Amino acid sequence: MPEQVKDVPLHTSNPYELRVDLGRDVPETDVRTALRTGDLGFIHSYTTGSTVDGPGVRVVAWTSGCMWRCLYCHNPDTWTMTNGIPVSVARAVDEVRKYQHGLKTMAGGFTLSGGEPLMQHRFAVRLLTAVHDMGVHTALDTNGYYGDKLSDAELEAVSLVLLDLKAWDPERHKRLTGMDVAPTKAFAERLAARRRPVWLRYVLVPGLTDDPEDIKRIAAFAARLGNVERVDVLPFHQMGRFKWERLGLTYTLQDTPSPSAELIASTVAIYKAEGLRAF
Ligand code: SF4
Repeated sequence: MPEQVKDVPLHTSNPYELRVDLGRDVPETDVRTALRTGDLGFIHSYTTGSTVDGPGVRVVAWTSGCMWRCLYCHNPDTWTMTNGIPVSVARAVDEVRKYQHGLKTMAGGFTLSGGEPLMQHRFAVRLLTAVHDMGVHTALDTNGYYGDKLSDAELEAVSLVLLDLKAWDPERHKRLTGMDVAPTKAFAERLAARRRPVWLRYVLVPGLTDDPEDIKRIAAFAARLGNVERVDVLPFHQMGRFKWERLGLTYTLQDTPSPSAELIASTVAIYKAEGLRAF
């Protein structure tokens, strides 16, 4: 492990701590080997005690690396994989093992989030499988773009998928994220066909993702899938703005407010109208 990261704590009190260049000195060939084998992963941080990233109280590992560029991303320091701490899969598993009894007792679990965890899909599979084998509930928070990198057998180690669907309309999705929405929809269909539990996550941004027609189409899709156990409408906030500024990135949402209570309620109502449990 590079010298400068030895003393960096894996745990932070919150995932908003800015982290850059912690894996900078890992040679390019080692990064490629890590991606191929999953022996090593790049992790922004761990947090404990989360109650919003799956059922019960959770330990969350935030990976670094994301190929999307969502305009509202609150963790742009996770876009670059080598901004994260290089962590062996054994150490990553041990960090969860410390809490396994408490997590089981409290009906909580472990959530792998990011960034986009499937940018490091071999590492993600090895970590999730090891935690699942401990008897701990596992959740994978993903935009679904690389869902096809996981085999059906590997999906069995994921107790719950937290699927982030950002928009329905392909053009809107592309403007918002820079990427195609089709792979995410295809992954959602596959999870439904395999009856894997899903919680849908929808970030609500005034002026960007508040078109009721677009939301109605997502709601109808989610209801048809039959495996979406709940929908979480996540209000946009400005907590990640300082990271864009510190990283020298152009942030375009400086004048965008958080959604009003009325807008949140009307969005939740659209999902509920399709018979979904929405919050
Ligand atoms: S998918 Fe998530 S981590 Fe990636 S840019 Fe979008 S909000 Fe940020």
